[in-house]
Amino acid sequence: MDEKAKAPVAADKKDNVLDSTQTVIHKALGKLGYSEEVFELLKEPMRMMTVRIPVRMDDGSIQIFTGFRAQHNDAVGPTKGGVRFHPDVTETEVKALSIWMSLKAGIVDLPYGGGKGGIICDPRKMSFPEVERLSRGYVRAISQIVGPTKDIPAPDVQTNSQIMAWMMDEYSRMKEFDSPGFITGKPLVLGGSQGRESATAKGVTICIREAAKRRGINLEGARIVIQGFGNAGSFLAKFMHEAGAKVVGISDVQGALYDPEGLDIDYLLDRRDSFGTVSNLFKNTISNEELLELECDILVPAAIENQITEENANRIKASIIVEAANGPTTMVATEILYNRGILLVPDVLASAGGVTVSYFEWVQNNQGYYWTEEEVEERLEKVMIKGFDNVYRVAQMRNVDMRLAAYMVGVRKMAEASRFRGWI
Ligand code: GLU
Repeated sequence: MDEKAKAPVAADKKDNVLDSTQTVIHKALGKLGYSEEVFELLKEPMRMMTVRIPVRMDDGSIQIFTGFRAQHNDAVGPTKGGVRFHPDVTETEVKALSIWMSLKAGIVDLPYGGGKGGIICDPRKMSFPEVERLSRGYVRAISQIVGPTKDIPAPDVQTNSQIMAWMMDEYSRMKEFDSPGFITGKPLVLGGSQGRESATAKGVTICIREAAKRRGINLEGARIVIQGFGNAGSFLAKFMHEAGAKVVGISDVQGALYDPEGLDIDYLLDRRDSFGTVSNLFKNTISNEELLELECDILVPAAIENQITEENANRIKASIIVEAANGPTTMVATEILYNRGILLVPDVLASAGGVTVSYFEWVQNNQGYYWTEEEVEERLEKVMIKGFDNVYRVAQMRNVDMRLAAYMVGVRKMAEASRFRGWI
């Protein structure tokens, strides 16, 4: 009862993400000199599908789940983006997330538009076979609008390579031919790419390095706080630790750990469960809210939306924030942080490493020729540095925060492609 009572509040709070995304897109298009019609086209996804998925549960009962797939704009190419499994997923959130995917693709110059999917469910409370049936049911429900040259799903919050494998298998069976290019983030043996699992964190690492350079901070010994210990957060902790930085704080959904001398990252990586939960092993934990306000040089929100808000933005101590999660900072908070001189590297740039290597995976699937880990990393590095430089340069030149600059860079190709196609 308690949990159910809480859910709508969380869902409501999330619905501001679409409003704020639209506000920033509007500003970005205005700065670039585009008309209101372009905004009208880009402010919402071009296609949004809601599906009801019946799933036979292990106890024999049938549960009906609600899922979504949003396709923002396919002027540049097929739409692309992950599918999240979370109890608080909302239609509005999925719409905003699809727009962010378009922006990411624009910033790192991929031949895609943005898409996003989500299912309202709590995979932590489901068995493996139940998650498998739900994943397959989702693919059957959305099969008409997705495909290797239409819309290509991928992992996101609480989905992983096993779920991608089930989805790919379901799609291939339905279409009666093997379709590795239908989805990315697959296991290596099913056409996954080297380096995909750690790609988001690699991209974030590159952004941290570039931002630290601009601010004259030496990564060696720098104090880092990471909120979230899922795919992005845990790999990032590893990379930061390897780079000689001091990871002083990490968190999961239940709580956060802090040690000013640096946490034992190898131990934490070893002990976390498949959802990245590790704080339950410790007695002396702090809250996620406290974690964000810790004394540190670099703060990386790597969990979910709306974590840095007007309530706590003034108490953040980091001088650099790099957003590994989608939408962790609200619009008002972005402004407060900018006025305080804190360098914020926005989600649409910082977390673009994942979709970049997804693109590499899709290219490899299409070619049937696979690259080495070094080749993937080298290419990812080039793409991310170019994206960072572009956004940073626009921010400096136009005297705007990096989020608005990123939107300006991200929206341009999509607007141009829509114009050439004669849509606007
Ligand atoms: N879910 C990831 C994101 O939000 C990756 C999407 C993809 O690889 O297509 O960027």
